[in-house]
Formats: sequence, C-alpha cells, structure tokens
Amino acid sequence: MKTTPQQLLLAWYHTHGRHDLPWRTTNDPYRIYLSEIMLQQTQVKTVLERFYFPFLEKFSTFNEVACAEVDDVLKMWEGLGYYTRARNLHAAARACQGILPATAQELMTLPGIGRSTAHAIAAFAYREALPILDANVKRILHRYYALGERDEKQLWGYAYDLFDKQHPFEYNQAMMDLGSLVCVGKQPKCDECPFGKHCKGRAEPLRYPMAKVTKPKPIRVRDIILFEREGKFALAQRKERFLSGLWGFAQYEKGSWGYHSHYLGHITQHYSHFTLEADCYHETHNDPQEEFEWFSLEEIGRLSLSRADHKVLQWIHPKEKD
Ligand code: SF4
Repeated sequence: MKTTPQQLLLAWYHTHGRHDLPWRTTNDPYRIYLSEIMLQQTQVKTVLERFYFPFLEKFSTFNEVACAEVDDVLKMWEGLGYYTRARNLHAAARACQGILPATAQELMTLPGIGRSTAHAIAAFAYREALPILDANVKRILHRYYALGERDEKQLWGYAYDLFDKQHPFEYNQAMMDLGSLVCVGKQPKCDECPFGKHCKGRAEPLRYPMAKVTKPKPIRVRDIILFEREGKFALAQRKERFLSGLWGFAQYEKGSWGYHSHYLGHITQHYSHFTLEADCYHETHNDPQEEFEWFSLEEIGRLSLSRADHKVLQWIHPKEKD
C-alpha cells in the first residue's frame, strides 16, 4: 500500500518534532491561547526564553488576566511588540469572564481571536478535528500546491484537503514544526522534507507565494521632551494604534517645541509600521501645554513603555537598558 503524505509527515514528526514545548504538554486552553498569540509575530526561542513563563507567573489563570488592569498586562508584554495582541488578550479575558469557551465557533467571537487561532486552541485543548492556518502552514501550503496567489479563502480549502482527520492533533503540530524547521522562509530544506515528491513546488519553492510588494516604511521625525518638575517626569498614555496604552514622554513634530531645552541625544527606533527618528531634550523651566501625569523614576519603572521611551530613559536613568 502506498504511503500517504500525511503518514510521511507524522513519521517525520515522531522523530524530529518538538514534543516538549510547554504549550504542547498541557491541555489548558489559556496556556495554549497565550502561546498562539505570543508566537504570531515572534520566534519560539524568544517567547520561550523571555516572555511565556514570566507572563504565566504573573497571571497563572485566564481569570487573573480578566481581573487585572490592562496596564499590568501591557507591562508583561513590554518588549514583545505588537501590543494590540496584549490588549486583545485582556479584552477577550474580560469578554468571557476568564473562562475560554470550548468550541472554535465560540472562540472566534472573542476579540483578537481569528479563525486559525480559534482552530489551534480548539484542536490542541479540546481535540477538535480542525486544521490551522498560521504563517508556517500557509507557507507550506503555498509551496506544496504551487500556489502563487495569496488567497486566504482558497488556502483554507487546501488546508482541509491536506488535513489528517485521523490524527488532527499530531498533524497540526507537525505542520507547525515543518514550517519552522524545514519549509522555512528563505532556504527551505527540501532534501529533509517528508513531503518529498508530493510537493508540487519543490523544484522552485521560493516562487510560492509571489513576493509581496512592500512599501518603504514612513519615517516620523520628532522631538521628545523630558519635562521634569520636582524630581518627577511628565508622561502620557499613547493613543496611536500600534502603541496604544503604553506610556511615553512628550513627543512633538520636529521643531514645534519652541524653547531651548537641554539637548540629550538622538534615538532611532524601528517599529513594524514606521521608523522613529527623534532628538531628545530635557526641560526643567517650561511646562508642557497638554495634560500629562507626573512620575518619579521609581514609578516609571512600573509603567509599560515603548522601546523608544526606554531608550530615552538612558539619559536620566543610567541603569535602564533597552
Ligand atoms: S519539499 Fe520543500 S517546498 Fe515542499 S513542503 Fe517540503 S520543504 Fe517546503
């Protein structure tokens, strides 16, 4: 009898899969959900070494996330980036009162839980027989079926076609591992791939999918002013979409702060959607015109700040590192 691609994949997973990842040795939906969200834009190594365990130490249950202030959740997310994920996690915890629903359909009604995340939680925590479609699986499917076009709806169809209904749990784990260990972005290791000749894109894997047309990132040129009054510094919570909820020092369009404050230095910070170029100044004589809250250095240490604001802190807080 012919060996199917699914059997080849499972045999590979048996030998090469990462069976000991902490979110694979639990069926706690909260822990699985947390790993899915953290891993969306971040590598396994970073999540494992720096973020997953400290977060769980602070919030050991989903109910604790629901009861916490969003600022405390953001603080534990500090440095991981894509802060919308943390705000959505908190909003989801509040929406379901700290108890995640038990089906993919219901999970999808929560803020920030898309179809693939809902399928992953349901497949890994509740053993629902559903395929996932994260970035790794998408890349494999594009290559396996030689699909140039990026069409999410079409991909879901292929995700179900290749799905192993007999071994849904192992299949999904195996696809995730194959995508991060073998069918990797720039240099796929086709010689080590269990799909072998079943893969239609194997001869030219980098053709699939077609490259995205990337626009250059905009550059924001700003002045950052550290207002100091009686040993306290002025900060406000950011409102812009990607950093919303994080605290930061005053930022102005370049040149619009009209006083000669003491120059501290220049920072460059690359974000996913823009690059910030800012000159930083210390201002002890003039107050800001807008509303700010005032914090001592010790209090600032408890706030969640963007990476740029951490860099700024170096001039007033020598121990602070980015
Ligand atoms: S054969 Fe190559 S391109 Fe195809 S799935 Fe395997 S690693 Fe990816």
